[in-house]
Formats: sequence, structure tokens, C-alpha cells
Amino acid sequence: MTNTLFIGGEWQAAASGAEFETLDPATGQPHAQVSLAGAADADAAVRAARAALENPEWAGLTPARRARILWRIGDLIEEHAEELAELETRDQGQPLGISMAVSVAAAAEHFRYYAGWVTKIYGETAPLSFPGVLQYTKREPVGVCALITPWNFPLMIASWKIAPALACGNTVIVKPAEQTPMTTVRLVELCREAGVPDGAINLLTGGPEAGRALVEHPGVDKVSFTGSTETGRDIVRASAGNLKRVTLELGGKAPSLVLPGADLDAAVAGCLQGALLNSGQVCAAYTRFLVHRSLADEFAERCGKAVSGMRLGAGNAPDTELGPLVTDEHRDHVHALVRSGVQEGAQLLAGGAPVDDLPGFFYQPTVFTDVRDDMRIAREEIFGPVLSVLPYDDEDEAVARANDTEYGLAAAVWTRDVGAAHRVAGSIRAGTVFINMPNPVDASAPWGGFKASGWGREMGSGAIDAYTEVKSVWTSLA
Ligand code: ADP
Repeated sequence: MTNTLFIGGEWQAAASGAEFETLDPATGQPHAQVSLAGAADADAAVRAARAALENPEWAGLTPARRARILWRIGDLIEEHAEELAELETRDQGQPLGISMAVSVAAAAEHFRYYAGWVTKIYGETAPLSFPGVLQYTKREPVGVCALITPWNFPLMIASWKIAPALACGNTVIVKPAEQTPMTTVRLVELCREAGVPDGAINLLTGGPEAGRALVEHPGVDKVSFTGSTETGRDIVRASAGNLKRVTLELGGKAPSLVLPGADLDAAVAGCLQGALLNSGQVCAAYTRFLVHRSLADEFAERCGKAVSGMRLGAGNAPDTELGPLVTDEHRDHVHALVRSGVQEGAQLLAGGAPVDDLPGFFYQPTVFTDVRDDMRIAREEIFGPVLSVLPYDDEDEAVARANDTEYGLAAAVWTRDVGAAHRVAGSIRAGTVFINMPNPVDASAPWGGFKASGWGREMGSGAIDAYTEVKSVWTSLA
């Protein structure tokens, strides 16, 4: 497929004519040809989005009509579920079961959830202390929104942004990650089919250059970005020109605390699930296992045994438990961190190397013990199937060590003691704490990070706040 830019209702090639290939991570072979957007395309998309913002075809839609369009997008995603899931697996590598049950299902639900919000975006009336004045607030669209997405859950994360942005009446320019653009291309086609008018949704396939052009563009009012913390920092700097609104969902280094007396079967199973979903390419992946010393050896041993028996393979093979990493470059990043762990003195209990008897970008699921808090594997985001077990002796120490990170996206606690569960949940500095469970997301639960894990919240009412400006209107009753 070429002509993958969608600007003002037209599919088109990049102004420069440039293209690039995307690879199937399970084979390492090219599977699609895509247009490579540059600054000129970003400018054209911003103009189209700005024009649509004023156009009665979009701006004049009643909330009820806008809600119907969003609901229809959810239906169309579901009608094309198999096709979208297969495309996601081919482009991103995730096992088909995950593409279906997580990526496609959550994408459809997100559009439905925000379809429901469209008719419930209320203002407020405040009890002013001025006599003879009526005051009320309205929530208005922020304007032109640049939605920049990562490669780990392309379809789902694009939906996390497009659904609330359109629900609030904005116009959008979506810029999927260069490694995984294909399901976003298809999603934009479905949005069109559902009746989103020309210019209200635009798509730029391409890399950092297109993203940067949007972030710097004075015609963009808001950027919503999910990706690495380093790129998040660049975005904050580059968006300063017109002081764009910025929402950021960045890296994580989620601690998982296993307290004394925890149900070890449940903790091991849930921790593995939380660590290895999508081969660990999840911002909320559990990576630092702070396990009470009384359980640490057994916990590590069980994790090591479980990961050594996992079946690695292409996402579309029926018995695959763990798919490939997204690119060779990313696999090199994961392996470099694993090597640093070994060099810094951590013990490898399982894995520790790329898989060399499969094509594509597979990495052995890896378990480390004897990990110290100052090692790179305990501090840096690996975004791969790598678990570190760190024993601790008392709860305060565990919480302090869990919080000793620049990140604060998610955390887990495993315990049968309800008081301890909520005590620890209250002390952890993270946007989400999971108690005795892995790490799913739901359209109605706020999602986002403390500290260097980001700014603002997606999902729930948080996304309505993120995609609206509040206007206060005062009227003299005299
Ligand atoms: P990675 O996780 O591979 O390091 P990034 O966080 O850099 O990826 O990228 C996530 C998304 O941000 C991608 O769509 C990418 O093209 C885009 N991007 C990368 N650099 C920039 C930038 N400086 N400004 C805007 N977008 C960028």
C-alpha cells in the first residue's frame, strides 16, 4: 500500500514522494510500503484540520450526531476485528490472541465509551459572590490535536487518543510510529466510512521528522504523545512556541511488591502475565520484583522455570505464547541491557540471549536474581521480556525502593492482608496500583503517570479534561 497519508479527505503520497518499508517482526521481511511524511505534509495536514474545525460539517454536528459516528467506528472495528488483528500481528508481532482480545477489543470499546461521553460533556454554574450575575462554564474543543503514537499497541493507543479527541469536537492529525503504521491506516479508513468529515481526521505515516513538524507547528493546539521519556522531553521543549497543551504517557519501571504470606501461585502467574504481555513491550510492564526475603528464592525459581518452558513463535502460529520484539534495533537495546546486568554482577536464572534458531526478532524470556537497585536493569526501561528479582526485608524498605525511580506509571502489590494492600497502594508514587492482579486498562479508569512517566491522564473523564478548554461566561442580570 502506498499513498498512506490522509489529508483533507484525500489519500495521497508524501509531497517529496518518499516512502519506507515496514517489516514483519516474526520474519524480518518487508510487508508493506508506506508514504514517508515530511514537514510539508505536516503543514498541509494542519491546514486541513484547522479548516475542518470551523466547517459546519464537523463543527455544526449536534452532540447526538457526533456520538453516532463514534459508536459506528466501534461497530466497524468489531466488524473488521479479524482483519485488524491479523494486520496488527503482522505489523507489530503480538500474538493473535492479544491482537484480538486486547488491541482490537479495547479499540472498539474506547470508541463506544467516548460515544457515550459526547452527550454528557457538561459545564458548571458556580455560586459567585457577585450579586446580579449569572455565570456558567462550557467545555470547548482545544482545537487541532496532533496524536503521536508508539509501536507497542498501535491500534489501541491510537484509539485512546482519537476517540476522546473527536468526542470533544476537536480535529486530529494522527502520526503512528514508523515501525507499525498499518492498523492506524485501516482505522482512519474506518473512521471515514463511519462518517467523520473531510479534514476532521488526518493521518501522517512517517517518522520523527513528521512528529517534530507537528509538535513545532504554530497551527497545532495540542499534542497527545505516548512513547519514550526522552522523546517526551523533546516534545515539551519543541511545543513551547505557542504553549501547546501537552499530554504525555511516557516510560515506566513498574515495581511489583510481593509481601510476606502472599498467595505465591497467584503472584507468580500474575507477575509473569504483567511482565510478559506483548513480550514486555508495555509501559506498565512489571519489571522490578521486590519480593519478601522469605519468598524470594522460591518466587525466582518458579519464574525461571515458567519462562524456560514458554513457546516462542510468530504471532499468527496457534501455539505461540511469546511473540518477537518489534525490530532488530529494539532487540539490540534489550540485549545490551541484559549484558549490562551480567557485567554488573546480577545472576541469570533463565534466558539472557537473542533466539538464533528463529527468523525475526525473538528474545529469550529472561530472569535475573541478585539484582541491586543501582544496576541499569533495575533503573532503565528495558521494554522486553526481562524480569529482575530483588529481595527485601521490611515493608517500609520495599516501598522506599519501589519509589526510588524517576518513573511512576504503575505498580503492583501481592498480599492477602487487606490493610497492607491499601497501606502500600497509598504509599506508592504511581498513577495506577494493581492489587493482586496483572495490569489491564479499561476505558473508564484513568491512565497516566506520576513523575517522569508523564503529564495528564487518558481514559475516563481525564481524557475529556485533556481535550477540552474550559470557558467561563459571566452575564450581568441588570
Ligand atoms: P521509541 O519508543 O522507539 O524510542 P519514541 O518514543 O521516540 O520511540 O517514538 C514514539 C513516537 O514518537 C513515534 O511515532 C515517533 O515517530 C515519534 N517521534 C520520535 N521522535 C519525535 C520527536 N522528536 N517529536 C515528535 N515525535 C517524535
